[in-house]
Amino acid sequence: MGITLEKTHYQLLINGEGVDSASGQSFETHNPATNEALASVAKATPEDVDKAVAAAREAFSGAWARISAAKRTGLLFKLAGLLRERFEALARLESLNNGKAITSVKGELNQAIEELEFYAGAANKIMGSTVPVPYGFLNYTLREPIGVCALIVPWNYPILLALRKLAPALAAGNTVVLKPASATPLTALTIGEWCLEAGLPPGTVNVITGPGVEIGSYLVKHPGVDKISFTGETSTGKEIMRMAADSIKRLSLELGGKSPNIVFEDADLEAAAAGSVWAIFYSAGQSCEARSRLFVQDSIYDRFVSLFVEKAKKLRVGDPLDPETHVGALISPAQVQRVESYVQAGLSAGGRVLCGGGRPPEPSLARGNFYLPTALAIEDHRAKVTQEEIFGPVVTILRFKSEAEVVALANDVIYGLVATLWTQDVGRAHRVAGQIRSGVVTINTPFTVFPGLPFGGYKQSGFDREVALEALHSYTELKSVLVFVREKPLNPFGI
Ligand code: NAP
Repeated sequence: MGITLEKTHYQLLINGEGVDSASGQSFETHNPATNEALASVAKATPEDVDKAVAAAREAFSGAWARISAAKRTGLLFKLAGLLRERFEALARLESLNNGKAITSVKGELNQAIEELEFYAGAANKIMGSTVPVPYGFLNYTLREPIGVCALIVPWNYPILLALRKLAPALAAGNTVVLKPASATPLTALTIGEWCLEAGLPPGTVNVITGPGVEIGSYLVKHPGVDKISFTGETSTGKEIMRMAADSIKRLSLELGGKSPNIVFEDADLEAAAAGSVWAIFYSAGQSCEARSRLFVQDSIYDRFVSLFVEKAKKLRVGDPLDPETHVGALISPAQVQRVESYVQAGLSAGGRVLCGGGRPPEPSLARGNFYLPTALAIEDHRAKVTQEEIFGPVVTILRFKSEAEVVALANDVIYGLVATLWTQDVGRAHRVAGQIRSGVVTINTPFTVFPGLPFGGYKQSGFDREVALEALHSYTELKSVLVFVREKPLNPFGI
């Protein structure tokens, strides 16, 4: 797994040019499968952020503003074309930098391109309306771009989440400063360069890299930024909300989750077990939508749990670049330690390990951040391991008796991102879907999102939606224009 990249130093992208940091400093980014350094990356300073925001401001009122919506559509389709042409190389770079299984990365890249095309097609369909008003007046509404958008993304889906924000922001006519996670900056920097190649004017897309607590927060507070779209931890989201308050910045927050997966006694157990294994162990559980709380009805508990465990044990953990691998590496040694401490907390709370519970034994994986798919049977729903987001390949399995009981348990967390139900009873499926407090509910499928479907959270999983047309609108300001058209002039005071 010892791999070197052709390009070993990555620069910031500011005003259409690759530049080093004003301080000349850089940091290393690693391959999570080996913990070897992959490349050095420029570490931005506040001065660099100022330049990136200034470039985005200038492009917003200059070159990008002069490009029609129809032309924006063409440019975004061109970018999608470049991504398709260079699909294999981009997927490999993502897998190397993120540690995720290459087949998963390819699926995500496909999804990202389809979302980009969805917004490319929507760029020239952003319409206002005409509202009936009293005689003598005419009203119409306009959806205008907001301005400079700061897009801050995490490390768990670097390409998908960068494009999920870039595409609607640009389609709506905004310019952007993109800040990828420090652990996975390479594909965002690459896509930034390809935006230029696609023909987007310099300054429309700027990419800065460096520590979130320093330059991320500086960007959030920057007076030249009009909107922040953030995906990451709930605790960081709270901090960003506080920082954005001073200048009342527009805000979209996509945060953490602790999503339930409910298997009723009338489910197709084979399908439910296969789907439930995917729902937690995809992306090694490092997914906001990971269904990390598995609830199984009493009467089928033993049968279902043994099916689930049997399938989980079949997952191949290993080299992320091997197409046979299901579960790649976790992002960092610290993430493995975090997972270990949650498993330990689960055991202390009376949990029993049904599979996994440690690192894989293969010596070839010892240098990387691997952890086995782990299932913990537990009874205490208020335990730390069942309440907090672990962000690793660990599922807790709880038993329930009635529909009312499981709805209450499913809703008994601070999060509300996704829920999955397995049942063949149509009435129950829709009844329970209506009672779950989450932004997405899936029935008899672990999949949660296709281009156009709204994705986002209730409660502390955030607010606003992505992927859908609603997201396009969230990158616009709605202006109401009222016109006086009566023959006789208006004299409101009669003076
Ligand atoms: P994170 O630590 O909150 O970081 C996310 C991004 O914010 C990174 O680019 C980070 O930069 C930056 N950042 C950190 N502190 C900041 C600050 N004070 N001001 C401005 N920016 C700051 O999250 P993560 O660990 O990368 O990602 C995992 C989390 O994302 C999980 O909680 C997961 O559930 C959530 N997530 C949610 C969704 C969704 O759609 N709801 C999707 C995917 C992931 P550095 O990397 O330099 O620290």
